[in-house]
Amino acid sequence: MNEERPHFGGSGTPLERWRDDPELADLPSLNLAAIFEESRRVVVIAPHPDDEILGCGGLLMQLHALGRELLLVSVTDGTGSHPGSSLWPAARLAATRPQESRRALARLGLASLETMRLRLTDTQVAGEARTLAYRLHRLLHDDDILLTTWRGDGHADHEATGEVCAALVDGSSRTVVEMPIWMWHWAEPGDARVPWHRAHRLPLDESARAAKRHAMVEHGSQCQPDRSTGAPPILSALALERLTQPHEVFLL
Ligand SMILES: [Zn+2]
Repeated sequence: MNEERPHFGGSGTPLERWRDDPELADLPSLNLAAIFEESRRVVVIAPHPDDEILGCGGLLMQLHALGRELLLVSVTDGTGSHPGSSLWPAARLAATRPQESRRALARLGLASLETMRLRLTDTQVAGEARTLAYRLHRLLHDDDILLTTWRGDGHADHEATGEVCAALVDGSSRTVVEMPIWMWHWAEPGDARVPWHRAHRLPLDESARAAKRHAMVEHGSQCQPDRSTGAPPILSALALERLTQPHEVFLL
């Protein structure tokens, strides 16, 4: 139903609401050793180049430090972020955003991370879900751990990618871990639309938070206003603050 769909208007949930939420602070800790077993590869499946930093940059740093095998799959090149822009036409975004992602990962100490680009159409992942499923099916191992955007995140590409990944777990030894990203914008503490019973928290220290902020500076296309359309940055300063809290939250 329409009224239950997330709203993306305005600046989103104030940072203090999340900061002051006691239930968020009380979420169970993500048990890295138990969830991300040593023998299994972790495959991050990011709809757009930046979701891997915003959703799980801190987790990736910790998994890398533990020596886990990691693969990043970029579903789209994020060419749909600036509709109608003469400053950021799709061709420029296609050339720029994957490079921004590489530089951002380097700032997290992940310059060597293996990356694959699937080049599906940004904003149209739901319509290309069968292609995505097929491409992923071809490259996944039977016991991979999939780390992807939450099926209820309120953004069509995030939800479609999450759905495809969840379906790829059925009948295999794979598991899926989902990360909310836009949820921090439209939801409120205790929001009934969020499956908090599945949520686990990974604390981030100040250096990890600083590294994430530093990494996001590389995503200039997303963090600066568009002079040609007058549009504000895709990611406002507030949105970046909401996404660099002293923890990352994952749905198991
Ligand atoms: Zn995204």
